[in-house]
Amino acid sequence: STHPTLVWLRRDLRLHDHAALELACRDGAPVLLAFVFDPALLAPLPRQDRRVDFILEALQDLERQLRLRHPDLGLIVRHAPPREAIPALVREAGATRLVYAHDDDPYALARDLAVQAELPRDIRVESVQDVTVFERRGLLTGQGKPYTVFTPYKNAWLRAVTAAHLAPRAPRLEHLAASPLATGLPSLADLGFEPTDLHARFRGGATQAQAQWDEFRRERLAGYADQRDFPARKGPSYLSPALRFGLLSIRELAREAWARREAPGAAVWLSELIWRDFYHQVLHHHPGVVEGPLKPEYAAIHWEEGAEADAHFAAWCAGQTGYPLVDAAMRQLNQTGYMHNRLRMVTASFLCKSLGLNWQRGEAYFAEKLLDFELASNSGGWQWAASCGCDAQPWFRIFNPVTQSEKFDPDGAFIRRYVPELASLPSPALHAPWSARPVELGGLVLGRDYPRPVVDHAEARARTLARYGVVKRVA
Ligand code: FAD
Repeated sequence: STHPTLVWLRRDLRLHDHAALELACRDGAPVLLAFVFDPALLAPLPRQDRRVDFILEALQDLERQLRLRHPDLGLIVRHAPPREAIPALVREAGATRLVYAHDDDPYALARDLAVQAELPRDIRVESVQDVTVFERRGLLTGQGKPYTVFTPYKNAWLRAVTAAHLAPRAPRLEHLAASPLATGLPSLADLGFEPTDLHARFRGGATQAQAQWDEFRRERLAGYADQRDFPARKGPSYLSPALRFGLLSIRELAREAWARREAPGAAVWLSELIWRDFYHQVLHHHPGVVEGPLKPEYAAIHWEEGAEADAHFAAWCAGQTGYPLVDAAMRQLNQTGYMHNRLRMVTASFLCKSLGLNWQRGEAYFAEKLLDFELASNSGGWQWAASCGCDAQPWFRIFNPVTQSEKFDPDGAFIRRYVPELASLPSPALHAPWSARPVELGGLVLGRDYPRPVVDHAEARARTLARYGVVKRVA
């Protein structure tokens, strides 16, 4: 038929190895690409939001790539509720087929159902797996149940995966067609947003993401296992925002890691990609993790509340807790929209196990600030830190922020970068300035130039053990 197929792009902002686009291009009909800015998602965001900036960059890159293929090609972009915009576009384009990739975020599932309900009956709607290697009921236990512990899941993943799972979904892009509906991209201002300081390494959409991935796979993947835990080093890939918005294909990344899995760097990195699949399937099977703990008995915990708790939370957010590694990490998040994985674990543990605050407050703060914010991984990571989620982490394991600092930022290079007021302290003192000798502090006055610790860690630890004691009684 000559009726066009509409591909609705959502979190797959690239043209290569693209499951929805590949499916759309199979039958030879002309293919149009649409993206919708959803007011329901944009409205609650602060007017400066790096993610909106990031998405717009990614769309600009897509538009550039399309124009390079043919000057008449372009993206169709709308700023309206999808349940109105998509049916309108289908009508205006005369499309008979709508194709998009699965998105198992509960909001997205509801949105997609609402869109389908508004479409004329004779429109063929097809959705396809793209975001993860395995999803939904793709990997189940011998009893047909979803996995809730990572290691057995990972073992099953490694047994089940084949070259076919990881093969590129290469679209026949010659079927992309021009459309009068493609009238150019909105600006940030059109969307009601202001420019941000989006960190330089995250600019440039899929083209830039591909260059970043090339650099990581050639230069750094081999050393990943040794380097990844030290926030001052360029150890991890920094590809999480690219994965969040599908600037890269997970298949491409996993294919390379899997091919090199006999080497320690690639094997450890592949494990991280499997964590990503794991948390996505947890969210699919247990959408309640968005609202509360996976293990219901943990809902009985009483978290600190009131004015002092609020002050502690504000200090945590601002990177003013008096614990240098925690503060450096929170300032990295605030300044760049990224936080190193080791530090996500340290700051999350600090919030719920040192400050005794409800982990959901921290989860919400990360959700607001992270450029790579991913509902499945953020909820999984926070519940891991609070010991109320999937994994076998016992609740009495409490990170000591000073020990973590000595171990993972031994010479204080990371702390000095983000907490400049401490930059001249010698290394051992830097990790716990309150126990430094006056000569080590130089002119620094605690409580004036840098906060005293907001809590005493040993006391906090004892309070946490008591707090979590209710879990034992309920369970
Ligand atoms: P790399 O170390 O290079 O890892 C490669 C990729 O593997 C990452 O890009 C990511 O997609 C995936 N990955 C790595 N670790 C994990 C993990 N533990 N769980 C799931 N996927 C993982 N990751 C997010 O993408 N979005 C989040 O909102 C998020 N919130 C988190 C909150 C907490 C409290 C914790 C402890 C972890 C969170 N993570 C989250 C997981 C992890 O910290 C980040 O994926 C990682 O730091 C991203 O940096 P990178 O791309 O350089 O990672």
